[in-house]
Amino acid sequence: MSSSTEKRSYHRVLTIATSDSGGGAGIQADLKTFSAMGCYGMSALAALTAQNTHEVRGIHALPPEYVALQIDTVVEDLGVNAVKIGMLFNQRIMEAVADRLSFHDIERVVLDPVMVSQSGAKLIEDDAVEVLKHTLFPLSAMITPNLPEAETLLGIEIENRSKMEQAARSLLRFGSGSVLLKGGHFDDEQSLDCLVLQEPDEQGRDIYWYEAERVATDNTHGTGCTLSSAIASGLAKGKTWPEAVDNAKTYITGAIAAGSRYDIGKGGGPLHH
Ligand code: PLP
Repeated sequence: MSSSTEKRSYHRVLTIATSDSGGGAGIQADLKTFSAMGCYGMSALAALTAQNTHEVRGIHALPPEYVALQIDTVVEDLGVNAVKIGMLFNQRIMEAVADRLSFHDIERVVLDPVMVSQSGAKLIEDDAVEVLKHTLFPLSAMITPNLPEAETLLGIEIENRSKMEQAARSLLRFGSGSVLLKGGHFDDEQSLDCLVLQEPDEQGRDIYWYEAERVATDNTHGTGCTLSSAIASGLAKGKTWPEAVDNAKTYITGAIAAGSRYDIGKGGGPLHH
């Protein structure tokens, strides 16, 4: 029987990412997702954006030391079961984050290699892409690129679905534990994602496919942030990588469908968590 004084433990997830003042993407989407997935959310801000549903008017990066200080301060007191990494914007912030992840020996890291917003704004400095690949990917359990991001990272074109597996396996070469390549940018009725693992799992499998019915809506602002945060929540709860992706896909499909009915802002509206 549980008593009222019994202590309970949270599944704790930290997002290291950027603020979207419009509330649809970035840190704000991450924290909403953690709550909806039954986790306790914390945040270390890397930058601020002045942003709404159709434009990013400004990006203000924080000093790297201050990003590191936020990470140390929460990890040393509250502790983290998993980390989600989103928009870090520049090379120096990425290096500071990599340093703190290594120092604290954090293993369950899901990294969304954010590059360009759906409204067309560049969310990473050009010279930071190499640091992302070579410094942060090897520290991540999973990276979650969409097709344009995978094309930039690999310097190739991914023409159709049949090329997805090969591209995902090529991305494994940068050293993350797994790669979830999101095929949502193909104009098909089903959205198809491919998860490849560096090592075969207990089932002896090293590839999983996820298919979902596409929801016809422009309200998809923050989809990438939400998916990676939902996966990190699953990892915080101790789920396997394929299970965490499966649960996250179910969550995001519901959040897109729920948000599709709203009329908010002049651009692509947010999901409903
Ligand atoms: N703004 C911030 C702060 C983000 O982190 C992201 C994505 O990660 C975006 C905007 C882009 O969101 P979307 O491409 O879904 O509009």
